Amino acid sequence: MRLFLLLSVLAAAPPHLAEKQAAAATIDAHATQLTALSDEVWRYAETALQETKSSKALADYAEKQGFKVTRGVAGMPTAFVAEFGSGKPVIGIMGEYDALPGLSQKAEPARAVIDAGAPGHGCGHNLFGVGSLAAAMAVKELIASGKLHGTVKFFGTPAEEAVGGKIYMMREGVMNGVDAMLAWHPDDETRADTKSTQAIVDVTVEFFGRAAHAAYDPWNGRSAVDGLELFTHAVNMMREHIHTSSRMHYAIVKGGDVPNVVPEYGKVWIWMRDEKRELVDEMLVRLRKMAAGSAMSADVESKVTVNGGDWNMLVNMTGERLAQANMEWLGPLSFTAEEQEFAKAIQRANKIEEKGLNTKVKEFDAHPGPADGGSTDVADISWNIPTIHVSVVTAAAGAPWHGWSVVACGGMSIGHKGMIFAAKALAATMVDLFADPANVKAMRDEFAKTSAGVTYKAYVPEGPPRLPTASN
Ligand SMILES: [Zn+2]
Repeated sequence: MRLFLLLSVLAAAPPHLAEKQAAAATIDAHATQLTALSDEVWRYAETALQETKSSKALADYAEKQGFKVTRGVAGMPTAFVAEFGSGKPVIGIMGEYDALPGLSQKAEPARAVIDAGAPGHGCGHNLFGVGSLAAAMAVKELIASGKLHGTVKFFGTPAEEAVGGKIYMMREGVMNGVDAMLAWHPDDETRADTKSTQAIVDVTVEFFGRAAHAAYDPWNGRSAVDGLELFTHAVNMMREHIHTSSRMHYAIVKGGDVPNVVPEYGKVWIWMRDEKRELVDEMLVRLRKMAAGSAMSADVESKVTVNGGDWNMLVNMTGERLAQANMEWLGPLSFTAEEQEFAKAIQRANKIEEKGLNTKVKEFDAHPGPADGGSTDVADISWNIPTIHVSVVTAAAGAPWHGWSVVACGGMSIGHKGMIFAAKALAATMVDLFADPANVKAMRDEFAKTSAGVTYKAYVPEGPPRLPTASN
């Protein structure tokens, strides 16, 4: 009986257990430093391409740990690479650290602003960056001690929220030679992400008219805002004739100044999304026609500018299965009664069901439905390098994402626990890739099949992204 029990325990143990346990022990040994680093980035709360202090904190930490660090890659001062080891395989892992504007919030379970109007980590990227770097560090220790062989590369990827920093890094060749890539994201669930994400295109449409007095000589004027209004009307009529999976949302950025001047300029900013890049491309063709037609009707000029966008995620089931097994080995997550109460207070404040925190690792979903709303620049990487993506709970179940609740949990023990769990899960999955070349080959074989016949082209414009200035 005892022997039987022992055997069944052994059967449940993951492959390369000693290496995975060593990686987890390294992360535990550094947990205090890692959570301090995460809190430091949480406090800086810097937005896209302005993550100067955040990226420096992460890069400095990596350097201190013995990584070779290259800063300011791909024309972005806040992008960096930290690498260790030599030869094959080359396994990459990505970390983000940009915050969102206007979400300043204390680590408290009710809306409590630190600095009105200031940014906050409403997507948990402080945890994302440090968690991924921690996983890379644990693997580095195994390479240093000769237990694993190859190269680990951590990519510090800025500006996920606004620019898509990863896409520029990849296009500049910074990720060349990587055999497999990993990433995670803070969430209110813990799961291997077998479901794709939506493709998105980010477009501005400008209209140029002729100013005149709106009452004295309106016949001399041509209103740019007439063109703009016709355009948004056309967009809203198009909603009737698109796939149910399509999404579009716009903001009128410039719509005239005062009633007695015929506006000579109008600008609308629109995002369009769907399950697949081809469907987004089709809508983009229609958008160009609508812009031209609206301008013609109002006797003004129009200009369409594609600012960027992301592809839909190419899921790698082979990689996701490896990650799932490791999360099941590590899970479930354990939260204290105080942490559950913290989450419930957040849920009460948001008037949603008081479910607390999800502790379970979700069952593997081999047949996921279509992508939910939401996009990421990780998806662009997935069409070029086989990519594993997981989500780990760092926030109260059902609480609004990109909101204060996520900021609050990301700056205290709930977020820290999710981050440490993610670091261990990703490190263990990297152990699978380093220790067994068959896993990398299986991932690459699947990738070759699923990406066959697709020519990748980024939506983002040529050259490095425009750096933010004080005025924008
Ligand atoms: Zn995010």
